[in-house]
Amino acid sequence: MNHRPRKRFGQNFLHDQNVVERIVLAISPRRDQHLVEIGPGKGALTRPLLDRVDKLDVIEIDRDLAPHLEHELGQFGRLRVHQADALTFDFRHLARDGRKLRVVGNLPYNVSTPLLFHLLDQVDVVEDMHFMLQKEVVDRMAAAPNSDDYGRLSVMIQFFCKVEKMFNVKPGSFFPAPKVDSAVVRLIPHTQPIVAVDDVAMFSRVVTAAFAQRRKTLRNALKGLLDQDGIIAAGVLPDARAETLGLAQFASLSNVTHKSLLTKT
Ligand code: SAM
Repeated sequence: MNHRPRKRFGQNFLHDQNVVERIVLAISPRRDQHLVEIGPGKGALTRPLLDRVDKLDVIEIDRDLAPHLEHELGQFGRLRVHQADALTFDFRHLARDGRKLRVVGNLPYNVSTPLLFHLLDQVDVVEDMHFMLQKEVVDRMAAAPNSDDYGRLSVMIQFFCKVEKMFNVKPGSFFPAPKVDSAVVRLIPHTQPIVAVDDVAMFSRVVTAAFAQRRKTLRNALKGLLDQDGIIAAGVLPDARAETLGLAQFASLSNVTHKSLLTKT
């Protein structure tokens, strides 16, 4: 197929068979599992995945690529092509038979963070996720406290999922080659919450505020949400900075904030 890669859709097509094989091996799909691929493009991952499973849903935004995939790979009846925007896609709808989804994809890097958050909102129907992303994003997802990479993305992803960085991928494995290194990550949603949070929306609000200006102390960063006494009540030092806190401390700050707002109303 003659298709000019579209920058606006983050199209960097994988052509390195070695990388394709390593990704498929990392996923190791079983025939009866329900796989969903985001951004199948020209099918570099779709083909080997389709060889291994009975059912594959793919979500592709590009109006030229989607019908092409349908035409080329749809005839076996095992592939369902959704020409749609993954950022607004209802993944829950795909899981209505009760089976959780295994979500995979070489993601468009320009929308990877909002896409990850969209998936976290529906993580209850997800068994696991394997994604190719910018290496820098994977490093942020996997980062521990007290490192430069640690921030809102690390806390929010780790609250919902176990993060395993699998391997790095060089720009030359794609066409066109992106300007940055890439990496493959595995995300496994926790079956039980690893910290007790009373209100997830409040947790997200507190984490966002705490990292909005990461050099600020929590006393300043949380102004308007939680005062100094509240921070102390959560067992956290008001002079501490967000990057030093672990999940349990963010959970505690969010629970105290939630309670204090409830008593005010
Ligand atoms: N999977 C292919 C591969 O590995 O060669 C293509 C990967 S390319 C990095 C990203 C793919 O995601 C492109 O096919 C692009 O058209 C598609 N895409 C971009 N934005 C999308 C969105 N919001 N929803 C669904 N697909 C999208």
